[in-house]
Amino acid sequence: MKRRGSLALFLLFAAGCSGSGGFGAVSCGIGGPTPPSQTAAQVPIGQLPSIDTTQLLAHTKVLSSDQFEGRLPGTRGEQLSVTYIEDQFKKVGLKPGNTDGSYIQKVPLVGITPAPAPLVFAKDGQRQTLKWKDDVVAWTKHVADSASLKDSEVVFVGYGVVAPEFNWDDYKGVDVKGKTLLMLVNDPPVADPSKPGELDPQTFGGAAMTYYGRWTYKYEIAAQKGAAAAFIVHETGPAGYGFNVVQGKTGEQFDLVTPDKNIGRVNIEGWITLDRAKALLQSAGQDFDALKTRAATRDFKPVPLGVDATMTLHNTLRTIDSRNVVGRLDGSDPNLKDEYVVYTAHWDHFGKTADGIFHGAEDDALGCAALIEVARAFSRLPAPPRRSLLFLAVTAEEQGLLGSQYYSVMPIYPLAKTVADINMDSWNVHGRTKDLTLVGYGASDLDDYARDAAAEQGRIVHGDAEPEKGFYYRSDHFNFAKQGVPALDPDGGVEYIGKPKEYGQQVRDEWTEHRYHTPKDVVTPDWDLTGTAEDLKALFAVGYRVAQSDRMPEWKPGNEFKAKRDAMRKGT
Ligand SMILES: [Zn+2]
Repeated sequence: MKRRGSLALFLLFAAGCSGSGGFGAVSCGIGGPTPPSQTAAQVPIGQLPSIDTTQLLAHTKVLSSDQFEGRLPGTRGEQLSVTYIEDQFKKVGLKPGNTDGSYIQKVPLVGITPAPAPLVFAKDGQRQTLKWKDDVVAWTKHVADSASLKDSEVVFVGYGVVAPEFNWDDYKGVDVKGKTLLMLVNDPPVADPSKPGELDPQTFGGAAMTYYGRWTYKYEIAAQKGAAAAFIVHETGPAGYGFNVVQGKTGEQFDLVTPDKNIGRVNIEGWITLDRAKALLQSAGQDFDALKTRAATRDFKPVPLGVDATMTLHNTLRTIDSRNVVGRLDGSDPNLKDEYVVYTAHWDHFGKTADGIFHGAEDDALGCAALIEVARAFSRLPAPPRRSLLFLAVTAEEQGLLGSQYYSVMPIYPLAKTVADINMDSWNVHGRTKDLTLVGYGASDLDDYARDAAAEQGRIVHGDAEPEKGFYYRSDHFNFAKQGVPALDPDGGVEYIGKPKEYGQQVRDEWTEHRYHTPKDVVTPDWDLTGTAEDLKALFAVGYRVAQSDRMPEWKPGNEFKAKRDAMRKGT
Protein backbone atom coordinates (compact mmCIF):
# COMPACT_ATOMS: atom_id res chain seq x y z
CA MET A 1 0.00 0.00 0.00
CA LYS A 2 2.62 2.46 1.04
CA ARG A 3 3.30 5.16 -1.46
CA ARG A 4 6.37 7.22 -0.93
CA GLY A 5 5.75 10.89 -1.26
CA SER A 6 7.85 13.49 -2.98
CA LEU A 7 10.73 15.04 -1.17
CA ALA A 8 9.67 18.58 -1.88
CA LEU A 9 8.82 19.13 1.76
CA PHE A 10 11.47 16.89 3.18
CA LEU A 11 14.10 19.48 3.88
CA LEU A 12 11.53 21.72 5.47
CA PHE A 13 10.46 19.03 7.93
CA ALA A 14 13.92 17.59 8.45
CA ALA A 15 15.14 20.99 9.56
CA GLY A 16 13.10 21.04 12.75
CA CYS A 17 11.04 18.43 14.51
CA SER A 18 10.50 16.18 11.59
CA GLY A 19 6.73 16.10 11.56
CA SER A 20 4.83 14.63 14.45
CA GLY A 21 2.94 12.34 12.10
CA GLY A 22 -0.12 13.53 13.86
CA PHE A 23 0.55 12.63 17.43
CA GLY A 24 0.05 15.86 19.25
CA ALA A 25 2.85 16.75 21.63
CA VAL A 26 5.92 14.74 20.73
CA SER A 27 9.62 14.94 21.28
CA CYS A 28 11.92 15.75 18.42
CA GLY A 29 13.58 12.37 18.72
CA ILE A 30 17.17 13.33 18.06
CA GLY A 31 18.42 14.96 21.22
CA GLY A 32 15.13 13.97 22.88
CA PRO A 33 14.62 12.17 26.18
CA THR A 34 16.81 9.32 27.37
CA PRO A 35 15.98 6.28 25.26
CA PRO A 36 14.59 3.20 26.99
CA SER A 37 17.05 1.03 25.10
CA GLN A 38 19.80 2.13 27.46
CA THR A 39 18.14 0.10 30.18
CA ALA A 40 18.12 -3.03 28.01
CA ALA A 41 20.85 -5.62 27.97
CA GLN A 42 22.44 -4.15 24.91
CA VAL A 43 24.56 -6.01 22.40
CA PRO A 44 26.31 -3.64 19.96
CA ILE A 45 24.68 -3.77 16.54
CA GLY A 46 27.98 -4.89 15.00
CA GLN A 47 27.79 -8.13 16.98
CA LEU A 48 24.27 -9.02 15.79
CA PRO A 49 23.77 -11.29 12.74
CA SER A 50 23.56 -9.46 9.41
CA ILE A 51 20.84 -9.68 6.76
CA ASP A 52 21.75 -11.54 3.58
CA THR A 53 20.97 -9.59 0.39
CA THR A 54 21.22 -12.71 -1.81
CA GLN A 55 18.45 -14.41 0.13
CA LEU A 56 16.35 -11.24 0.16
CA LEU A 57 16.57 -11.01 -3.61
CA ALA A 58 15.85 -14.72 -4.11
CA HIS A 59 12.60 -14.64 -2.07
CA THR A 60 11.50 -11.44 -3.80
CA LYS A 61 12.05 -12.92 -7.24
CA VAL A 62 9.98 -15.99 -6.42
CA LEU A 63 7.07 -14.10 -4.84
CA SER A 64 6.95 -11.52 -7.64
CA SER A 65 7.34 -14.03 -10.47
CA ASP A 66 4.71 -14.52 -13.19
CA GLN A 67 3.87 -17.87 -11.65
CA PHE A 68 2.52 -16.16 -8.51
CA GLU A 69 0.07 -14.16 -10.66
CA GLY A 70 0.21 -10.97 -8.58
CA ARG A 71 -0.80 -12.66 -5.29
CA LEU A 72 -4.47 -11.70 -5.20
CA PRO A 73 -6.39 -13.11 -2.19
CA GLY A 74 -8.59 -16.05 -3.13
CA THR A 75 -6.56 -17.06 -6.21
CA ARG A 76 -3.87 -19.59 -7.06
CA GLY A 77 -1.42 -16.77 -6.30
CA GLU A 78 -2.59 -16.87 -2.67
CA GLN A 79 -2.04 -20.61 -2.43
CA LEU A 80 1.49 -20.34 -3.82
CA SER A 81 2.39 -17.34 -1.63
CA VAL A 82 1.07 -18.86 1.58
CA THR A 83 2.82 -22.18 0.90
CA TYR A 84 6.11 -20.47 0.06
CA ILE A 85 6.15 -18.29 3.17
CA GLU A 86 5.11 -21.19 5.43
CA ASP A 87 7.92 -23.35 3.98
CA GLN A 88 10.46 -20.58 4.53
CA PHE A 89 9.29 -20.03 8.10
CA LYS A 90 9.86 -23.74 8.74
CA LYS A 91 13.30 -23.62 7.10
CA VAL A 92 14.53 -20.78 9.29
CA GLY A 93 13.33 -22.65 12.38
CA LEU A 94 10.11 -20.87 13.30
CA LYS A 95 7.43 -22.87 15.08
CA PRO A 96 3.76 -22.81 14.04
CA GLY A 97 2.51 -19.39 15.14
CA ASN A 98 -1.09 -20.41 15.69
CA THR A 99 -2.08 -22.14 18.93
CA ASP A 100 -3.90 -24.77 16.84
CA GLY A 101 -0.47 -26.04 15.79
CA SER A 102 -0.56 -24.54 12.29
CA TYR A 103 1.19 -21.64 10.56
CA ILE A 104 -2.17 -20.32 9.33
CA GLN A 105 -4.76 -17.89 10.68
CA LYS A 106 -7.88 -18.06 8.52
CA VAL A 107 -9.23 -14.65 7.48
CA PRO A 108 -12.83 -14.65 6.21
CA LEU A 109 -13.29 -11.94 3.58
CA VAL A 110 -16.36 -10.76 1.74
CA GLY A 111 -16.47 -8.89 -1.55
CA ILE A 112 -19.44 -6.52 -1.80
CA THR A 113 -20.45 -4.88 -5.09
CA PRO A 114 -23.30 -2.38 -4.91
CA ALA A 115 -25.46 -1.74 -7.97
CA PRO A 116 -25.50 1.95 -9.01
CA ALA A 117 -28.22 3.91 -7.18
CA PRO A 118 -29.12 7.58 -6.71
CA LEU A 119 -29.06 9.49 -3.41
CA VAL A 120 -32.15 11.66 -3.02
CA PHE A 121 -32.42 14.66 -0.70
CA ALA A 122 -35.92 15.99 -0.04
CA LYS A 123 -37.05 19.19 1.69
CA ASP A 124 -40.59 20.55 1.73
CA GLY A 125 -41.53 18.46 -1.29
CA GLN A 126 -38.47 19.63 -3.27
CA ARG A 127 -36.09 16.86 -4.36
CA GLN A 128 -32.40 16.90 -5.27
CA THR A 129 -31.17 13.71 -6.92
CA LEU A 130 -27.45 12.95 -6.75
CA LYS A 131 -26.25 10.80 -9.59
CA TRP A 132 -24.25 7.64 -8.86
CA LYS A 133 -20.52 8.11 -9.43
CA ASP A 134 -20.86 11.64 -10.88
CA ASP A 135 -22.18 13.18 -7.64
CA VAL A 136 -22.12 10.43 -5.03
CA VAL A 137 -20.04 7.34 -4.33
CA ALA A 138 -21.57 5.03 -1.73
CA TRP A 139 -21.25 1.52 -0.35
CA THR A 140 -22.25 -0.56 2.62
CA LYS A 141 -20.10 -2.69 4.89
CA HIS A 142 -23.15 -4.73 5.90
CA VAL A 143 -22.83 -8.31 4.68
CA ALA A 144 -26.37 -8.26 3.30
CA ASP A 145 -28.20 -8.22 -0.02
CA SER A 146 -29.23 -4.62 0.48
CA ALA A 147 -28.80 -1.57 2.69
CA SER A 148 -30.97 1.50 2.71
CA LEU A 149 -31.90 4.89 4.11
CA LYS A 150 -35.46 6.13 4.09
CA ASP A 151 -36.31 9.74 4.92
CA SER A 152 -33.33 9.95 7.27
CA GLU A 153 -32.76 13.49 8.54
CA VAL A 154 -29.48 15.03 7.40
CA VAL A 155 -27.29 16.68 10.06
CA PHE A 156 -24.08 18.57 9.31
CA VAL A 157 -21.58 17.59 12.03
CA GLY A 158 -18.53 19.60 10.96
CA TYR A 159 -15.44 17.37 11.01
CA GLY A 160 -17.37 14.73 12.97
CA VAL A 161 -14.55 14.40 15.51
CA VAL A 162 -14.53 13.35 19.17
CA ALA A 163 -10.97 13.84 20.51
CA PRO A 164 -10.82 14.00 24.32
CA GLU A 165 -7.08 14.75 24.35
CA PHE A 166 -7.77 17.95 22.43
CA ASN A 167 -10.96 18.73 24.37
CA TRP A 168 -12.85 18.49 21.09
CA ASP A 169 -16.38 17.11 20.52
CA ASP A 170 -18.29 18.01 17.36
CA TYR A 171 -21.47 16.27 18.58
CA LYS A 172 -21.99 18.12 21.90
CA GLY A 173 -24.34 15.41 23.14
CA VAL A 174 -26.76 15.83 20.22
CA ASP A 175 -28.52 12.52 19.47
CA VAL A 176 -27.77 11.53 15.86
CA LYS A 177 -29.22 8.00 16.02
CA GLY A 178 -30.78 7.04 12.70
CA LYS A 179 -29.64 10.31 11.12
CA THR A 180 -27.55 10.87 8.01
CA LEU A 181 -24.35 12.71 8.85
CA LEU A 182 -22.65 15.12 6.51
CA MET A 183 -18.99 15.68 7.39
CA LEU A 184 -15.84 17.45 6.29
CA VAL A 185 -12.63 15.54 5.51
CA ASN A 186 -9.30 15.91 7.37
CA ASP A 187 -8.67 17.33 10.85
CA PRO A 188 -10.29 20.56 12.03
CA PRO A 189 -7.76 23.22 10.95
CA VAL A 190 -7.20 25.07 14.22
CA ALA A 191 -5.20 28.28 13.96
CA ASP A 192 -2.11 28.78 16.11
CA PRO A 193 -2.99 31.63 18.51
CA SER A 194 0.63 32.82 18.60
CA LYS A 195 1.41 32.52 14.87
CA PRO A 196 -1.21 33.96 12.53
CA GLY A 197 -1.63 31.97 9.34
CA GLU A 198 -0.26 28.74 10.82
CA LEU A 199 -1.94 25.71 12.32
CA ASP A 200 -1.67 25.05 16.04
CA PRO A 201 0.83 22.18 16.48
CA GLN A 202 -0.71 21.39 19.87
CA THR A 203 -4.11 20.61 18.32
CA PHE A 204 -4.54 17.77 15.83
CA GLY A 205 -0.82 17.77 15.11
CA GLY A 206 -0.78 21.13 13.31
CA ALA A 207 -0.05 20.52 9.64
CA ALA A 208 0.33 16.75 10.19
CA MET A 209 -2.79 14.63 9.82
CA THR A 210 -4.04 12.68 12.83
CA TYR A 211 -6.27 9.65 12.59
CA TYR A 212 -9.26 11.93 13.23
CA GLY A 213 -8.66 13.34 9.76
CA ARG A 214 -8.77 10.03 7.91
CA TRP A 215 -11.96 9.20 6.04
CA THR A 216 -12.12 5.76 7.67
CA TYR A 217 -12.35 7.41 11.10
CA LYS A 218 -15.37 9.46 10.00
CA TYR A 219 -17.43 6.34 9.28
CA GLU A 220 -16.30 4.65 12.49
CA ILE A 221 -17.37 7.51 14.73
CA ALA A 222 -20.68 7.76 12.83
CA ALA A 223 -21.31 4.08 13.65
CA GLN A 224 -20.42 4.64 17.30
CA LYS A 225 -22.99 7.45 17.40
CA GLY A 226 -25.67 5.15 15.95
CA ALA A 227 -26.09 7.14 12.74
CA ALA A 228 -27.81 5.54 9.73
CA ALA A 229 -25.36 6.93 7.18
CA ALA A 230 -22.34 9.15 6.79
CA PHE A 231 -21.34 11.13 3.72
CA ILE A 232 -18.06 13.00 3.51
CA VAL A 233 -17.93 16.20 1.47
CA HIS A 234 -15.09 15.78 -1.02
CA GLU A 235 -12.60 18.63 -1.21
CA THR A 236 -9.45 17.96 -3.20
CA GLY A 237 -7.09 19.98 -0.96
CA PRO A 238 -7.99 18.52 2.45
CA ALA A 239 -8.57 15.01 1.03
CA GLY A 240 -5.22 15.02 -0.76
CA TYR A 241 -6.71 13.54 -3.93
CA GLY A 242 -9.35 14.27 -6.55
CA PHE A 243 -12.91 12.91 -6.74
CA ASN A 244 -11.67 10.56 -9.48
CA VAL A 245 -9.85 8.60 -6.76
CA VAL A 246 -13.08 8.34 -4.77
CA GLN A 247 -14.85 7.16 -7.92
CA GLY A 248 -12.45 4.21 -7.93
CA LYS A 249 -14.48 2.87 -4.99
CA THR A 250 -17.61 2.17 -7.02
CA GLY A 251 -16.71 -1.45 -7.75
CA GLU A 252 -16.26 -4.49 -5.53
CA GLN A 253 -14.90 -3.76 -2.09
CA PHE A 254 -13.53 -6.32 0.30
CA ASP A 255 -14.15 -6.42 4.01
CA LEU A 256 -13.88 -8.79 6.92
CA VAL A 257 -16.83 -10.97 7.77
CA THR A 258 -17.27 -10.11 11.44
CA PRO A 259 -19.56 -12.12 13.78
CA ASP A 260 -22.23 -9.38 13.49
CA LYS A 261 -21.81 -9.23 9.68
CA ASN A 262 -20.75 -5.60 10.11
CA ILE A 263 -24.25 -4.60 11.15
CA GLY A 264 -22.63 -2.37 13.78
CA ARG A 265 -21.49 -0.11 10.93
CA VAL A 266 -23.74 2.61 9.50
CA ASN A 267 -26.08 1.39 6.74
CA ILE A 268 -24.46 3.46 4.03
CA GLU A 269 -21.05 5.13 3.82
CA GLY A 270 -19.98 7.44 1.05
CA TRP A 271 -18.72 10.69 -0.40
CA ILE A 272 -20.50 13.50 -2.22
CA THR A 273 -18.96 16.17 -4.41
CA LEU A 274 -18.31 19.65 -3.07
CA ASP A 275 -20.68 21.22 -5.59
CA ARG A 276 -23.59 19.01 -4.57
CA ALA A 277 -22.84 19.59 -0.89
CA LYS A 278 -22.89 23.34 -1.43
CA ALA A 279 -26.19 23.09 -3.30
CA LEU A 280 -27.68 20.95 -0.55
CA LEU A 281 -26.63 23.39 2.17
CA GLN A 282 -27.92 26.34 0.17
CA SER A 283 -31.32 24.70 -0.18
CA ALA A 284 -31.33 24.34 3.60
CA GLY A 285 -30.60 28.04 4.04
CA GLN A 286 -26.97 27.46 5.00
CA ASP A 287 -23.67 28.57 3.52
CA PHE A 288 -20.88 26.02 3.10
CA ASP A 289 -17.99 28.39 3.77
CA ALA A 290 -19.62 29.84 6.89
CA LEU A 291 -20.30 26.35 8.26
CA LYS A 292 -16.77 25.26 7.48
CA THR A 293 -15.34 28.21 9.40
CA ARG A 294 -17.52 27.40 12.41
CA ALA A 295 -16.51 23.74 12.20
CA ALA A 296 -12.88 24.70 12.87
CA THR A 297 -13.79 25.91 16.37
CA ARG A 298 -14.46 24.05 19.62
CA ASP A 299 -17.85 25.78 19.93
CA PHE A 300 -19.25 24.14 16.81
CA LYS A 301 -22.56 22.34 17.30
CA PRO A 302 -24.31 19.96 14.85
CA VAL A 303 -26.61 21.70 12.39
CA PRO A 304 -29.83 19.83 11.43
CA LEU A 305 -30.62 20.75 7.82
CA GLY A 306 -34.34 19.93 7.73
CA VAL A 307 -33.56 17.71 4.72
CA ASP A 308 -34.27 13.96 4.45
CA ALA A 309 -32.04 11.44 2.66
CA THR A 310 -33.19 8.29 0.84
CA MET A 311 -31.03 5.67 -0.86
CA THR A 312 -31.13 1.89 -1.42
CA LEU A 313 -28.09 -0.20 -2.35
CA HIS A 314 -28.52 -3.72 -3.75
CA ASN A 315 -25.38 -5.80 -3.37
CA THR A 316 -23.69 -8.72 -5.03
CA LEU A 317 -21.76 -10.73 -2.44
CA ARG A 318 -18.99 -13.30 -2.59
CA THR A 319 -16.95 -14.77 0.24
CA ILE A 320 -13.27 -15.75 0.24
CA ASP A 321 -11.39 -17.71 2.88
CA SER A 322 -8.01 -16.01 2.91
CA ARG A 323 -5.05 -16.57 5.24
CA ASN A 324 -2.44 -14.86 7.37
CA VAL A 325 0.79 -16.85 7.75
CA VAL A 326 2.28 -16.81 11.23
CA GLY A 327 5.53 -18.20 12.65
CA ARG A 328 6.81 -18.06 16.22
CA LEU A 329 10.18 -18.00 17.95
CA ASP A 330 9.86 -18.77 21.65
CA GLY A 331 11.48 -16.45 24.16
CA SER A 332 13.99 -17.73 26.70
CA ASP A 333 12.79 -15.99 29.88
CA PRO A 334 10.07 -17.99 31.70
CA ASN A 335 8.55 -14.73 33.01
CA LEU A 336 8.56 -12.89 29.68
CA LYS A 337 8.12 -15.57 27.01
CA ASP A 338 4.33 -15.07 26.90
CA GLU A 339 4.98 -11.50 25.72
CA TYR A 340 5.42 -10.94 21.98
CA VAL A 341 7.26 -8.63 19.63
CA VAL A 342 5.55 -8.82 16.21
CA TYR A 343 7.01 -8.18 12.76
CA THR A 344 4.49 -7.73 9.92
CA ALA A 345 4.56 -7.59 6.12
CA HIS A 346 1.74 -8.16 3.62
CA TRP A 347 1.97 -11.02 1.12
CA ASP A 348 -0.93 -9.88 -1.09
CA HIS A 349 -1.00 -7.59 -4.12
CA PHE A 350 -3.49 -6.88 -6.92
CA GLY A 351 -3.39 -10.05 -9.04
CA LYS A 352 -3.68 -9.73 -12.79
CA THR A 353 -5.93 -7.68 -15.06
CA ALA A 354 -6.10 -6.85 -18.75
CA ASP A 355 -3.10 -4.55 -18.07
CA GLY A 356 -0.96 -7.53 -17.02
CA ILE A 357 0.33 -9.11 -13.84
CA PHE A 358 0.74 -6.80 -10.85
CA HIS A 359 3.98 -8.37 -9.61
CA GLY A 360 4.31 -6.25 -6.47
CA ALA A 361 8.06 -6.80 -6.14
CA GLU A 362 8.76 -3.82 -3.88
CA ASP A 363 5.16 -3.80 -2.63
CA ASP A 364 5.45 -6.11 -0.82
CA ALA A 365 7.27 -9.24 -1.97
CA LEU A 366 10.41 -7.56 -0.63
CA GLY A 367 8.70 -7.01 2.76
CA CYS A 368 7.89 -10.73 2.97
CA ALA A 369 11.49 -11.51 2.04
CA ALA A 370 12.53 -9.17 4.86
CA LEU A 371 10.20 -10.96 7.27
CA ILE A 372 11.81 -14.31 6.45
CA GLU A 373 15.36 -12.97 6.65
CA VAL A 374 14.84 -11.08 9.92
CA ALA A 375 13.43 -14.34 11.31
CA ARG A 376 16.58 -16.11 10.09
CA ALA A 377 18.75 -13.50 11.84
CA PHE A 378 16.89 -14.18 15.12
CA SER A 379 17.40 -17.92 14.66
CA ARG A 380 21.15 -17.34 14.31
CA LEU A 381 21.48 -15.68 17.71
CA PRO A 382 23.42 -17.79 20.25
CA ALA A 383 20.25 -17.79 22.41
CA PRO A 384 16.72 -16.56 21.77
CA PRO A 385 15.80 -13.21 23.33
CA ARG A 386 13.82 -13.10 26.58
CA ARG A 387 10.45 -12.33 24.95
CA SER A 388 8.94 -14.32 22.08
CA LEU A 389 8.82 -13.14 18.48
CA LEU A 390 5.94 -13.44 16.05
CA PHE A 391 6.40 -13.16 12.28
CA LEU A 392 3.09 -12.34 10.62
CA ALA A 393 2.61 -12.25 6.82
CA VAL A 394 -0.86 -10.78 6.40
CA THR A 395 -3.41 -10.91 3.60
CA ALA A 396 -5.52 -8.22 1.93
CA GLU A 397 -3.47 -5.17 2.90
CA GLU A 398 -4.13 -3.72 -0.52
CA GLN A 399 -7.87 -4.20 0.05
CA GLY A 400 -7.87 -2.00 3.16
CA LEU A 401 -5.44 -3.52 5.70
CA LEU A 402 -7.85 -6.41 6.26
CA GLY A 403 -5.53 -9.25 7.28
CA SER A 404 -3.86 -7.17 9.97
CA GLN A 405 -7.25 -5.83 11.06
CA TYR A 406 -8.43 -9.38 11.52
CA TYR A 407 -5.37 -10.25 13.60
CA SER A 408 -5.79 -7.11 15.71
CA VAL A 409 -9.42 -7.92 16.59
CA MET A 410 -8.93 -11.72 16.76
CA PRO A 411 -5.35 -11.88 18.10
CA ILE A 412 -3.77 -15.29 18.65
CA TYR A 413 -1.92 -13.89 21.68
CA PRO A 414 -3.38 -11.16 23.93
CA LEU A 415 -2.72 -7.62 22.72
CA ALA A 416 -2.00 -6.51 26.28
CA LYS A 417 1.02 -8.84 26.09
CA THR A 418 1.91 -7.80 22.55
CA VAL A 419 4.82 -5.48 23.13
CA ALA A 420 5.28 -3.91 19.70
CA ASP A 421 4.65 -4.23 15.99
CA ILE A 422 7.40 -3.47 13.47
CA ASN A 423 6.04 -3.23 9.92
CA MET A 424 7.86 -3.76 6.64
CA ASP A 425 6.00 -2.42 3.59
CA SER A 426 7.97 -1.47 0.45
CA TRP A 427 11.64 -0.79 0.65
CA ASN A 428 14.61 0.98 -0.88
CA VAL A 429 16.20 -0.94 -3.76
CA HIS A 430 18.81 1.65 -4.75
CA GLY A 431 21.67 1.15 -2.31
CA ARG A 432 22.92 2.45 1.03
CA THR A 433 21.67 5.67 2.56
CA LYS A 434 22.85 8.00 5.29
CA ASP A 435 19.38 8.00 6.83
CA LEU A 436 16.29 6.00 7.75
CA THR A 437 12.73 7.32 7.54
CA LEU A 438 10.35 6.73 10.46
CA VAL A 439 6.81 7.55 9.39
CA GLY A 440 4.99 9.34 12.23
CA TYR A 441 8.34 9.93 13.93
CA GLY A 442 8.06 10.57 17.65
CA ALA A 443 4.98 8.40 18.22
CA SER A 444 6.45 5.90 20.65
CA ASP A 445 9.59 4.66 22.38
CA LEU A 446 10.15 2.41 19.37
CA ASP A 447 11.32 5.46 17.44
CA ASP A 448 14.03 5.96 20.08
CA TYR A 449 15.19 2.38 19.68
CA ALA A 450 15.34 2.87 15.90
CA ARG A 451 17.19 6.16 16.29
CA ASP A 452 19.81 4.50 18.49
CA ALA A 453 20.27 1.52 16.19
CA ALA A 454 20.67 3.81 13.16
CA ALA A 455 23.11 6.01 15.10
CA GLU A 456 25.31 2.97 15.78
CA GLN A 457 25.40 2.48 12.01
CA GLY A 458 26.48 6.11 11.63
CA ARG A 459 23.09 7.12 10.25
CA ILE A 460 20.31 9.49 11.20
CA VAL A 461 16.53 9.09 11.33
CA HIS A 462 13.80 11.57 10.43
CA GLY A 463 10.06 11.71 9.87
CA ASP A 464 8.30 11.29 6.55
CA ALA A 465 8.25 14.10 4.02
CA GLU A 466 4.48 14.54 4.01
CA PRO A 467 2.99 14.09 7.51
CA GLU A 468 -0.09 16.01 6.38
CA LYS A 469 -1.06 13.01 4.24
CA GLY A 470 -1.30 10.61 7.16
CA PHE A 471 0.88 7.82 5.76
CA TYR A 472 1.16 6.39 9.28
CA TYR A 473 -2.45 5.23 8.94
CA ARG A 474 -1.95 3.43 5.64
CA SER A 475 -0.24 0.15 6.37
CA ASP A 476 -0.62 -2.87 8.61
CA HIS A 477 1.11 -1.58 11.74
CA PHE A 478 -1.76 0.92 12.03
CA ASN A 479 -4.20 -1.81 13.05
CA PHE A 480 -1.93 -2.61 15.99
CA ALA A 481 -1.65 1.09 16.86
CA LYS A 482 -5.41 1.53 16.69
CA GLN A 483 -5.84 -1.22 19.28
CA GLY A 484 -3.18 0.44 21.45
CA VAL A 485 -0.06 -1.60 20.64
CA PRO A 486 3.00 0.63 19.98
CA ALA A 487 3.85 0.28 16.30
CA LEU A 488 6.82 1.30 14.16
CA ASP A 489 6.44 2.29 10.50
CA PRO A 490 9.93 2.52 8.99
CA ASP A 491 10.74 3.39 5.40
CA GLY A 492 13.95 3.59 3.41
CA GLY A 493 16.22 6.61 3.55
CA VAL A 494 16.44 9.43 1.01
CA GLU A 495 20.10 10.49 1.11
CA TYR A 496 22.05 7.96 -0.95
CA ILE A 497 25.74 7.43 -0.25
CA GLY A 498 27.89 8.35 -3.25
CA LYS A 499 24.96 9.71 -5.26
CA PRO A 500 23.98 13.29 -6.02
CA LYS A 501 21.62 15.00 -3.56
CA GLU A 502 18.69 14.95 -5.99
CA TYR A 503 18.99 11.19 -6.59
CA GLY A 504 16.62 10.30 -3.74
CA GLN A 505 13.97 12.60 -5.16
CA GLN A 506 14.43 11.16 -8.64
CA VAL A 507 13.99 7.53 -7.65
CA ARG A 508 10.97 8.32 -5.51
CA ASP A 509 9.27 10.30 -8.25
CA GLU A 510 10.00 7.50 -10.69
CA TRP A 511 8.45 4.98 -8.29
CA THR A 512 5.35 7.05 -7.52
CA GLU A 513 4.65 8.06 -11.09
CA HIS A 514 5.55 4.93 -13.03
CA ARG A 515 5.69 1.80 -10.94
CA TYR A 516 3.64 2.11 -7.73
CA HIS A 517 0.55 -0.14 -8.02
CA THR A 518 1.22 -0.95 -11.67
CA PRO A 519 2.44 -4.10 -13.48
CA LYS A 520 5.87 -2.41 -13.62
CA ASP A 521 6.65 -3.05 -9.94
CA VAL A 522 9.16 -5.78 -10.80
CA VAL A 523 12.71 -6.78 -9.87
CA THR A 524 15.15 -5.13 -12.29
CA PRO A 525 18.86 -5.91 -12.80
CA ASP A 526 19.90 -2.60 -11.20
CA TRP A 527 18.38 -3.45 -7.81
CA ASP A 528 20.86 -2.89 -4.99
CA LEU A 529 19.65 -4.27 -1.65
CA THR A 530 22.65 -3.25 0.45
CA GLY A 531 20.66 -0.31 1.86
CA THR A 532 17.70 -2.53 2.64
CA ALA A 533 19.96 -5.00 4.45
CA GLU A 534 21.29 -2.15 6.58
CA ASP A 535 17.77 -0.87 7.33
CA LEU A 536 16.63 -4.37 8.24
CA LYS A 537 19.57 -4.88 10.53
CA ALA A 538 18.51 -1.74 12.40
CA LEU A 539 14.94 -3.09 12.64
CA PHE A 540 16.28 -6.44 13.77
CA ALA A 541 18.20 -4.64 16.53
CA VAL A 542 15.02 -2.76 17.52
CA GLY A 543 13.02 -5.98 17.86
CA TYR A 544 15.86 -7.78 19.62
CA ARG A 545 16.39 -5.02 22.16
CA VAL A 546 12.67 -4.58 22.81
CA ALA A 547 12.45 -8.35 23.34
CA GLN A 548 15.36 -8.15 25.81
CA SER A 549 14.30 -5.02 27.71
CA ASP A 550 13.07 -4.97 31.31
CA ARG A 551 10.24 -2.69 30.29
CA MET A 552 7.73 -2.51 27.49
CA PRO A 553 7.87 0.37 25.01
CA GLU A 554 5.13 2.98 25.39
CA TRP A 555 3.43 5.65 23.33
CA LYS A 556 4.71 9.16 23.90
CA PRO A 557 2.53 11.49 26.01
CA GLY A 558 -0.17 13.18 23.91
CA ASN A 559 -0.33 10.33 21.41
CA GLU A 560 -3.87 9.44 20.28
CA PHE A 561 -3.39 5.71 20.98
CA LYS A 562 -1.87 6.06 24.46
CA ALA A 563 -5.14 6.04 26.44
CA LYS A 564 -6.15 2.73 24.91
CA ARG A 565 -2.80 1.14 25.72
CA ASP A 566 -2.82 2.42 29.31
CA ALA A 567 -6.34 1.02 29.87
CA MET A 568 -5.35 -2.32 28.34
CA ARG A 569 -2.21 -2.61 30.47
CA LYS A 570 -4.13 -1.81 33.66
CA GLY A 571 -6.01 -5.08 33.25
CA THR A 572 -2.82 -7.18 33.22
ZN1 LIG B 1 0.48 -1.31 -2.06
